[in-house]
Amino acid sequence: MSGEPVKIILLGTGSPIPDPHRAGPCTLVRAADQNLMVDCGRGAVMRLMAAGVVPAMVQTVLITHLHSDHITDLNDLVTSRWVMMPANVPLRVIGPPGTKAMVDAMLLMLGADQHYRHAHHEDLRANGPLTVDVEEVTPGEKLMIGDVLVSVHQTDHRPVDPSIGFRIEHDGKIAALAGDTIPCAGLDEMCRNADAYVQTVIRPDLVNALADLLPIGERMRDILDYHSSVEQAAQTAQRNGVKNLLLTHYVPPMAPGQEEEWRSHATTHFTGTVILGPDLTSVEI
Ligand SMILES: [Zn+2]
Ligand SMILES: [Zn+2]
Repeated sequence: MSGEPVKIILLGTGSPIPDPHRAGPCTLVRAADQNLMVDCGRGAVMRLMAAGVVPAMVQTVLITHLHSDHITDLNDLVTSRWVMMPANVPLRVIGPPGTKAMVDAMLLMLGADQHYRHAHHEDLRANGPLTVDVEEVTPGEKLMIGDVLVSVHQTDHRPVDPSIGFRIEHDGKIAALAGDTIPCAGLDEMCRNADAYVQTVIRPDLVNALADLLPIGERMRDILDYHSSVEQAAQTAQRNGVKNLLLTHYVPPMAPGQEEEWRSHATTHFTGTVILGPDLTSVEI
């Protein structure tokens, strides 16, 4: 393997369903001197620390869409960076249209906290107000983040619209990261010849079985039409010459000991390497 390695760490492999063992959706990409978080779900900052990365080391968060499970810990990351860094270096948040309004509302929610901390810490007051650099992006855009090239791709999570995915390239290595989406042309374009493709997945067979037992069964079944199944993620990976398929955002939560069963749903459609497991499962490409 040549070139500088890119490391991908599944910080949180959970979903909207609260799980004592899995944080919400969040993946860390370490490339060159950059730490990029893709989505920032429940408990992401806690898992970030477990990966040996302090909040101040994260320069950028890439948001795939504005479903709550993908953004709930953004406020914790923003606050933790602000109170732990000697200087005020705003977090860069890159997401689809609507991201700025969400961040503005989040900063409003943090207003009382900012007021208290400013009143208490003179040096923090000298740093000025808590700010976040938000960039709203649309499919087709390309950005340089340090030495890392990020391109934005269309995904399909309708009625959640817009939703996007990110292709991250450094030194000949390609990582493709999708949020929630069904297979589509934009996703194929994003994944083409990627060394690693991260996809949020569901298991329709298990979701249907669970729906039969729950009073919110109908709501549960609704999620089937806007997520990739494990099989679909594997087919997308195979179609596009992906080397490593990383599965995350397991719905329903993948119980301990179920890993091989989940994997088998992918390996019947994909001849590359399938990576899944607990939070902090990682791969270097
Ligand atoms: Zn979603
Ligand atoms: Zn989700």
